[in-house]
Amino acid sequence: MESNDTYIYIHIPFCLKKCRYCDFYSIPYSLKLEQIYIKALIKEILLRRAEISQIRTLYFGGGTPTVISNESFSAIMKVLYDNFKFRPDVEITVEANPATIQSDYDNLKYLKQLGVNRISLGVQSFSDDLLKSLGRLHSSDDAREAICRVSEIYPNFSLDLMYAIPGQSIETWQDTVNEALSYNPAHISAYELTPEEHTPLWTDIKIGNTHLVDEDTTIEMYDFLTSTLKQARYDHYEISNYAHRDRQCQHNLNYWRQGFYTGFGTAAHSHVSADGLTKRYSNAANINTYAAAINNGTLPIVEPLIVTENEAEKERIFLGLRTSCGVHFDNIPKAAAELLNAGLIEINCNLITLTEKGFLVSNYCICQLIE
Ligand code: SF4
Repeated sequence: MESNDTYIYIHIPFCLKKCRYCDFYSIPYSLKLEQIYIKALIKEILLRRAEISQIRTLYFGGGTPTVISNESFSAIMKVLYDNFKFRPDVEITVEANPATIQSDYDNLKYLKQLGVNRISLGVQSFSDDLLKSLGRLHSSDDAREAICRVSEIYPNFSLDLMYAIPGQSIETWQDTVNEALSYNPAHISAYELTPEEHTPLWTDIKIGNTHLVDEDTTIEMYDFLTSTLKQARYDHYEISNYAHRDRQCQHNLNYWRQGFYTGFGTAAHSHVSADGLTKRYSNAANINTYAAAINNGTLPIVEPLIVTENEAEKERIFLGLRTSCGVHFDNIPKAAAELLNAGLIEINCNLITLTEKGFLVSNYCICQLIE
C-alpha cells in the first residue's frame, strides 16, 4: 500500500424493492431522485477534492448501484478522471443485482468502457423459494443469466451467497455452493444470515411465522462451504470471503488492514487522517438532508469520532483477526491459551490467527482476545 493511495467508496442508495432482511440505508428508486442525488454526489467529490490523491480502489456499493443510468455513472467517472490520478492497477468494483443486468448487456459493457473492472453480483441463493422468502427481486434463472453475462465481460467477478436462511436445508445450500462454483467466479462472499432487528424477516421470526436454522445445521453449512471452497482452491482470506489467487478484493482488504478511506454519498463512512488525528465519520443517512447540506456548500457529516490510541489498538485486533493474516501481539493475551486448546486460534511467533473453526465464532474469540 502506497501512502498516497486513496480508497474511495461511493454509496448509491436506491433499490427497486426492499429485501425482507435488509437494514442498509436504501430508498425506492426514482429518476427524479437519481438526478438530484448524482448532482449532489459530484459536488461532494469536488468539495472534498483535497482528501483524494492517487486512486487505488473505487467501490460503488448500495443500495443497488446498477439501477442508475449509464449517463449517471459516466458523470461520476468523468469528475474523477478529470480531477484525480488513478493508479495503473486501480480496482473499480460495482455491486450489481441480477434483476438490473440488462438483457442486451448494455450497462455491463458501458461500465467496462468507463474503467470498471470488477463486478460483485448479489446472487444469495439458487433456490427460488428462498429468494422469494428473502424478498429478492430476481429468480434463480435471472441470477444464472446475469452470471453468464457478467462472466463474459468481467473475468474478475464475485458472487454473494447467503446461508442459514430460514427454511434452507443443508442440501439446498450444497446445491447453491456447487452451482456457484460451476461458474468459476474469481471471488465468493458467503454470509451467514443474521436477522437484523425490525426487518420484516426478523418480525416473522419473532412471531413464529418462520424459524432460524438450528445451530448444528448452520455449522454443517459452514463446514461444507469452507471444505468445498478449499478443495476448489479458494483462499479463505477473511471470515466471509474467499478468492482465487490475487483476486482478493483490494478495497475491502484495506478496511480490514485499518487503512484510510473516503466515503462519498448519503450514509457513506470515512476513515481519515486529518490535523494529526485519526477520525471516523459518516454522512447523513437521509438523501434530502445530504443533498441540502451539499447544495449549501457544507459537508453532511454526522457522528464524527476521533479514534484514540486505545481504540485504534482494539480496531487493529478486531479487524486483523477477521483475516487469515491475523494479528501480532507484543504480549499474548491470557485468554489465548483456552482458545488455542479449543482449536479456535493458532499462535506462531506472537502472531495469532483464527482457525476455520475460530472464524465461525469470531466474535467470541475477538472479545476474549481484546479483554
Ligand atoms: S438489494 Fe441489497 S441494499 Fe437493496 S434492499 Fe436488497 S439487500 Fe438491501
